[in-house]
Amino acid sequence: MPGFNTNDQSQLNSQSINQSASNIKNMSRQMVIEIGVDALNKVGSDLICKVCIVNSGSCCNGCRHLENGIGCKTRNTSCTAWLCGFLKLLLYTTELLKDWDDFWIQVPGQDFREDFTPEFFFVEKPLQMKSIRSLSEALAADLRELASAHIAIGFIITLREKIDKNIDRWSQCKDDPKKRNRIERNIQALSSPFRRFNNELRDYRLIHSNA
Ligand code: SF4
Ligand code: SF4
Repeated sequence: MPGFNTNDQSQLNSQSINQSASNIKNMSRQMVIEIGVDALNKVGSDLICKVCIVNSGSCCNGCRHLENGIGCKTRNTSCTAWLCGFLKLLLYTTELLKDWDDFWIQVPGQDFREDFTPEFFFVEKPLQMKSIRSLSEALAADLRELASAHIAIGFIITLREKIDKNIDRWSQCKDDPKKRNRIERNIQALSSPFRRFNNELRDYRLIHSNA
């Protein structure tokens, strides 16, 4: 770089250290749960969950924290961070999955249906979720239609599990483009019955590629 000397370099280094230090925020466990719930609302998880639950696919089935007519009595960081195949598909197709994972990886003490997250801890990366509720609405309508068209009980739940597995495998093979492409094609094939969702996704991508 023209006119760049070692003093400039050390100034830049200390600037970026100060900058990254200023990005680090002390967060409370409760605040992180609220950020997650707010993000899930923007994703439109409620719309998908409604269809999933009436088709006996609820991920809360059998949990001791679930109260009839009330829902979850003790929201925790683990269940807030956890995504099922349908929610993963929404974030994967909109390229928001990495932002989600990068945020939650900073939250310590996640476990199964409970957490050991400390009351306060530091996070560096924020979670800024776009509203993609129109996509969830379309996906929910597709799921409703598929569930009623297929006599086999649990058709959409089986689909959810297959999508989930594929997206997890895709996330784990970042350095293998061939394998990634193959999995991307699998995910595309699995989500091909989602007609409304795919139409909405095309519009979403058009808008966001011009943004
Ligand atoms: S499995 Fe997914 S869609 Fe079903 S209730 Fe849980 S979060 Fe909602
Ligand atoms: S703790 Fe998790 S699995 Fe249990 S009811 Fe609450 S959200 Fe559902």
